[in-house]
Amino acid sequence: MDLKDLKDWLYRCPKCNSCKYLYKDYNKSCPSGEKFRWETYWGSGRVWMAYALKNGELEWSDSIIKAIFACPTCGNCAEQCEQEIKDHLIDIFEALRAEAVKSGYGPMPEQKMYAQFAAEKHNPYNEKHEERTSWMPNPITMKDNAEILYFVGCTSSYREKEIANATLEILKKLNLDFTVSKDEWCCGSPLLRTGQIEDVKNLIEHNIELFKKMGIKKIITSCAGCFRTLNKDYTDLKDLGIEIQHISDFLLEKLKDADLKEMGVKVTYHDPCHIGRHSGIFDTPRDLIKSIPGVDLVEMKRIRENAWCCGAGGGVKSAFKDWAVEIAIERIKEAEETGASILLSSCPFCHRNLNDAIKKSGSKMKMIDIVELLQEQI
Ligand code: SF4
Ligand code: SF4
Repeated sequence: MDLKDLKDWLYRCPKCNSCKYLYKDYNKSCPSGEKFRWETYWGSGRVWMAYALKNGELEWSDSIIKAIFACPTCGNCAEQCEQEIKDHLIDIFEALRAEAVKSGYGPMPEQKMYAQFAAEKHNPYNEKHEERTSWMPNPITMKDNAEILYFVGCTSSYREKEIANATLEILKKLNLDFTVSKDEWCCGSPLLRTGQIEDVKNLIEHNIELFKKMGIKKIITSCAGCFRTLNKDYTDLKDLGIEIQHISDFLLEKLKDADLKEMGVKVTYHDPCHIGRHSGIFDTPRDLIKSIPGVDLVEMKRIRENAWCCGAGGGVKSAFKDWAVEIAIERIKEAEETGASILLSSCPFCHRNLNDAIKKSGSKMKMIDIVELLQEQI
């Protein structure tokens, strides 16, 4: 969405400040505002900046660019806001980033590299495209025409490979007509979230052509970012009759009558922003966890709509490396307070950043994805 499409919303924030704290207990909501402590780093300040830049009352500068991009777009401000503008806040933040890119001032240098790598190698990690499926220890036969496509995503393909492997093993155990494609390209999430709209078009066109060619009816993802992007930003998919499901929704359906093995363990669950606040998936991951006999799910203080972000999204993990881990350390401490020994999530990007935080803080918490937990119990 362009900033000009949102112009009627840019003066609709009365600066009531409700977005700065959780409505339920006045706990902290915004990692960005809490860190930098200037109005421009809170949700309300971002709207104000957008208004002033749009109306020529403010000029681009390095400090403005930093404020625009220092936000994991977690959406907690939108959740706490009680005015009509709440449904447009994330669109305004992303349109502001796109405007910064269009004007030649953004994104942050580290984020600019995603576009170059995605164009050359179809992933933002600068890894070889030919090695996209090398995460599989026992390669499956990739069918040309299965009904279900497991869209693996770049982070699970090249970094958090155990999540891709666990998902694959579960799908194999369920004996489903599914496939994985070596022609999958980055879904475009890192570019869309950092305003690099022009650079994402090729990726989206390629993936849609691939889905059409393969005759896919359903796409499942184990990545919260891929899910959000395919579900909300690939607007053509629904017209093509292709259903998108996050693995937690998919497995809850498939495993409803399964006899899962028992395990005695206390766990807690971190809601990834992209399936949680951005997509409304809060219950199914919890129901899946609770479906394993002997698993005791204990909740953190800030959960579901009010969850503290892991800090990795919106390009923060690459452009503000230390701060991203700082945000995650706060989440790890909250997880430790529950007395759980395992922290679960359902997103490779959360997995990565929370694991970095565990290492940096010397925590004894074990970070695993729900699919890794389930793989052993099916
Ligand atoms: S999206 Fe998250 S980090 Fe960004 S302004 Fe809103 S609450 Fe703060
Ligand atoms: S964004 Fe919403 S909650 Fe925040 S100051 Fe504006 S109207 Fe109030």
